[in-house]
Amino acid sequence: MSDHPPLTLETSEQLVTCRDTSTGLRAVIAIDDTTLGPGLGGIRYRPYRDMWAAAEEAQRLASAMTLKNAMAGVPFGGAKSVVLHDGTPPRGRDALFEQFGRFIARLGGTYVPGVDMGTSPHDLQTVGSAGTEVSCTDVDPSPWTALGVYHSIVAAAGQHLGADGVAGVRVLVQGVGHVGGRLAELLTEAGAHVTVSDVDAARATSLAQRLGAATIAPDRVVSTPADVFAPCATARVITHDNIATLPVRIVAGGANDTLEDDRCADELDARGILYVPDFVANGGGVIHVQAMREGWDEARTTEAIARIGERVTQLILRSRAEGTTPLQAALATARDVVAAAR
Ligand code: NAD
Repeated sequence: MSDHPPLTLETSEQLVTCRDTSTGLRAVIAIDDTTLGPGLGGIRYRPYRDMWAAAEEAQRLASAMTLKNAMAGVPFGGAKSVVLHDGTPPRGRDALFEQFGRFIARLGGTYVPGVDMGTSPHDLQTVGSAGTEVSCTDVDPSPWTALGVYHSIVAAAGQHLGADGVAGVRVLVQGVGHVGGRLAELLTEAGAHVTVSDVDAARATSLAQRLGAATIAPDRVVSTPADVFAPCATARVITHDNIATLPVRIVAGGANDTLEDDRCADELDARGILYVPDFVANGGGVIHVQAMREGWDEARTTEAIARIGERVTQLILRSRAEGTTPLQAALATARDVVAAAR
C-alpha cells in the first residue's frame, strides 16, 4: 500500500497563492517542511486546469523535495512552486518572473527556488533580481545529477546482480537530454552495454554513434530486455499495467515521479525487480546546489555525490533486513532524518 499520506490543504507547512493582475501572474508556492533548513525546490511553469490543480501538484512535488533533500544530506527542507502558464504574459516573461520574485521575497528566505520544467537559469536570475536567494542561476546541475544516478546503478547492480561495477551490464537509458545523455556517457566509459531511446530521434542517434551504443524506438522502452532500466525523461513511466511484463532486473534513473503511484514499488518487488527510489538516485543536483552555496571544490562535490551509491546500498540492506522495499526503507530513513533534526 502507499506510504504517502493523502494531500490536503494542511499537507504543507505553508501554502501560498500569488496573483498579480498587471503581469498576469498566478502561482502557488508550497513549503512542505523547513525542519532541515529553508525549502529548496524548483519553479515549474506550465499550464494547469486551475489553481487547485496547481496547488495539488506544488504540494506533491514539495513533499518529494523534503524526502530528496533529507536523503541527500543537504541542509534544506522541501518546497516547490508552480506558475500557471496561461499563454503570453501581458507584460512579458521577465516581468512575470520579477513579480514572482517579489512574492518569494516576502517569505523571508524560507523558500529557495531553482529551475524545473519550463524555467531556465535566466528566469531564476530574474526571480533573484527581486532580492531573494535563488539557485541554478548559472551552472547546470544535470551532470551532477547524472553522476548520482550512475553511482546508484553501480550500487544496485552490486547488490542485486552481484556485479562488480557496470562492465558488461546492459543498461537502457530513456531520454538522453541533460541527465540521460551524461549518464549514458558515464556508463559507457565504465564498460556498460548502453541502449538509448529518445523522442528526439536525431539526439538519440548522434549520441549512440558517438558512444557506440544501440538505439531503440521510444514505444519499445518498457518491452526491451535489459539488466537496468534508467528512466531519464518523463514522469510515471512505470505503471500498474506495464510492471507485469517489464523485462528488466533493476529500475534506477534520474526522472522524478517514476512510478504511477507508490504501490508500483511493491509490485516491482514482487517480480524481483529492484527499484531505487527516484528521490534518492537523482539527489546529485541538490548536492551540487549545496556545493555551490558553500564553495566546495570539484573533488569534495564528487565525493559527496558518490555517497549516494553508499546510501542506495544501505537502503537495500535495510529493506532486506526489515522485509520491506527500498522505497519504504527510503521513506522511513528520510522521515528519521527529519524527526532527528526536530
Ligand atoms: P531534458 O529535457 O534535458 O531531457 C529529457 C529528454 O527526454 C529529452 O531529450 C526528451 O526529448 C526526452 N524525452 C521526453 N519524452 C520522452 C519519451 N517519452 N521517451 C524518450 N525520451 C523522451 O531533461 P533533464 O534535465 O535531462 O531531466 C530529465 C528528468 O530528470 C526529468 O524528469 C527531470 O525532472 C529529472 N531531474 C533532472 C534533474 C537535473 O539536474 N536536470 C535533477 C533531478 C531530476
